[in-house]
Amino acid sequence: MKRKVIVSSIIAILLLIAAAEGQARHEINFPNIPGYLTLKCDLHMHTVFSDGNVWPTVRVDEAWREGLDAISITDHIEYQPNKGDIPTKHNRPFEIAAESARTKDVLLIKGAEITRDTPPGHFNAIFLKDINPLDTKDFLEVIKRANEQGAFVFWNHQDWKGEEKGRWLEVHTTMYKNKWLHGMEVYNGNDYIPTAHKWCMEKNLTMVGNTDYHEPHLRTKSTPEDHRTMTLVFVKERTVEGIKEALREGRTAVWSRNKIVSREEFLKPLFYACVTTTPAHLKYKDKIWTKMCNNCDLHITLQKTGGGGPETISVPANSTYLFKIKVDAQAEQCKLSYQATNFLIGPGKTLPVQFTIR
Ligand code: ZN
Repeated sequence: MKRKVIVSSIIAILLLIAAAEGQARHEINFPNIPGYLTLKCDLHMHTVFSDGNVWPTVRVDEAWREGLDAISITDHIEYQPNKGDIPTKHNRPFEIAAESARTKDVLLIKGAEITRDTPPGHFNAIFLKDINPLDTKDFLEVIKRANEQGAFVFWNHQDWKGEEKGRWLEVHTTMYKNKWLHGMEVYNGNDYIPTAHKWCMEKNLTMVGNTDYHEPHLRTKSTPEDHRTMTLVFVKERTVEGIKEALREGRTAVWSRNKIVSREEFLKPLFYACVTTTPAHLKYKDKIWTKMCNNCDLHITLQKTGGGGPETISVPANSTYLFKIKVDAQAEQCKLSYQATNFLIGPGKTLPVQFTIR
């Protein structure tokens, strides 16, 4: 009898493992750009080890299901409301999630959120080796120690509250001058932070966008307008080190609510990797018919600035758009100029794009 129970228990466990391995993954579609792979990353989220409501492995399960390449679990160091039930153990969320991340091929980055009142505010330090030395009183000492471990440090939800809201203060200048501050959240969840965007451009800081999840993520379907906010990181290799190198060099774009934000040097190649035109398939008198293909999870909206194409072009995510253009009857090719209205190369500034249709 006992043996039967053991055998059936083993079978049940094996079936559970098989079910987990069979879990479907929703792939996020953003193509690679010349010279780099495009990784989908979320670098800010919480678990029960601070004020989140999930166990660390759940964050890995979510990342797998939702098509991410990499995550960083960044529990608050100084804010531990569950410590009566779950003692303060800063390195445990990473250790607990690590095995699950390996089996699912999700890259896991060790991180923590340095949580101070404003100013200075909240900062994530990621690529840490040991979080314990960061549990100390003096803020700049914490930032220094994170940097001594080779961390990438970014300022979270800068417009959140208090005195630092919309302001760059002395303490931030000290961090910046010491090269201890490397990036800022341009999006936190669905919230766009224009001051962070402006400072990233002016001070050459890396733009990131993350969910800052506290609750379990129960979304089963994503759309271009309603999806997990994430940082696209353009890496030379798909490793934790590869992500660190790219973040240090500022090779990112942020995707949130059908908008994508980055520097022109990355948005331009990304746009042309996503959107392609085909040679005209029909010419009749002074009109040609042609197609535009959108190979990404963003609805593309173009506003005409020159040429004979339609005033606006809207190509839904992962779709092909058919349109006609008025041309000079003798012309071999025609040029079209547009603004890609949801590709932001600066606050309020959209990406200019050109197409040549043969
Ligand atoms: Zn947070």
